[in-house]
Amino acid sequence: MRPPARKWFDTSPPESTRRRREWARSGAKFACRLGSALVVTALLILGGCVATSNELVSLPARNSIESDQLIVLSDFRIPSTSPLIGDLKQLRQQVCTTLDLPYSSRPVTVYLFKDELTYTQYIRTTYPKLPERRAYFVKKTPGDELAVYTSWGEQIQEDLRHEFTHGLLHAALQTPPLWLDEGLAEYFEVPGLQVGGVNRNDANRLTQGLADGWRPNIHRLEGLTEVDKMSRADYREAWAWVHFMLHSSPETRQVLLTYLHDLRTSKNPSPLSKRLMAAIPNATERMSSYIATLPVTGAPMSGSTILPASATVMPTGAQ
Ligand SMILES: [Zn+2]
Repeated sequence: MRPPARKWFDTSPPESTRRRREWARSGAKFACRLGSALVVTALLILGGCVATSNELVSLPARNSIESDQLIVLSDFRIPSTSPLIGDLKQLRQQVCTTLDLPYSSRPVTVYLFKDELTYTQYIRTTYPKLPERRAYFVKKTPGDELAVYTSWGEQIQEDLRHEFTHGLLHAALQTPPLWLDEGLAEYFEVPGLQVGGVNRNDANRLTQGLADGWRPNIHRLEGLTEVDKMSRADYREAWAWVHFMLHSSPETRQVLLTYLHDLRTSKNPSPLSKRLMAAIPNATERMSSYIATLPVTGAPMSGSTILPASATVMPTGAQ
């Protein structure tokens, strides 16, 4: 079955679609963070297929594309020259170059279902305790497959960039802190020839939050260990800290890169907040000032070629 037509670089989803997407975010990390629990359920899978009362739902397998770490399995044909595949290949380079990470050979498998119904049937049957989400990134055990599950849809490029970023990070690092994992995925999900595009609605909400008295707090983010406890505002703040560290100064950038370097070999390096405050004692104030400079209207920041998708819905990701 051929996928429906779409514009690769046109992302301004309607509110209803965005709502489902934010659910997808939480689900992705939920699946990842509770990966060990998923193993039990996964044992019920026989050869990638699961039996339901009425039908057999299989993992996509007929069409396979492999490129470096990326493996995309689908039941409809995707040309290897597809812009979507090219964009994910470029994303791998962007992630490794920007974060100074080695190119891992550990594969990240994307199971791309033909439509939302088929995908939902598979997820419901395979992981019956998980809430409905539009995409999942799953790492069942430390040495197990890095898998992305999703279906073809209007936001497929953005969703795949977000989830593939999780896969790339988990392939190269020991398990990153939840908030940073999500902040980096949010950062790299924005397509473009250059990284660092700004989601204007997020920037607008952050700026408005400052005006209302909110202040960023990296220590609070570091205390979040369950994705269901992460609100959409937390995702925004996580993204903002990543953007601040990568773009505000060479010092902040180096703090993040050094932390990620240590995370390649250490499961529990000293906290990023501690390092950041040691290098820049007034980092929180500088972060607040930085947020105030983010563009909320006008041309994309940092040369991004698209207008980032809007995000205005507070997730209700908790079960
Ligand atoms: Zn995520």
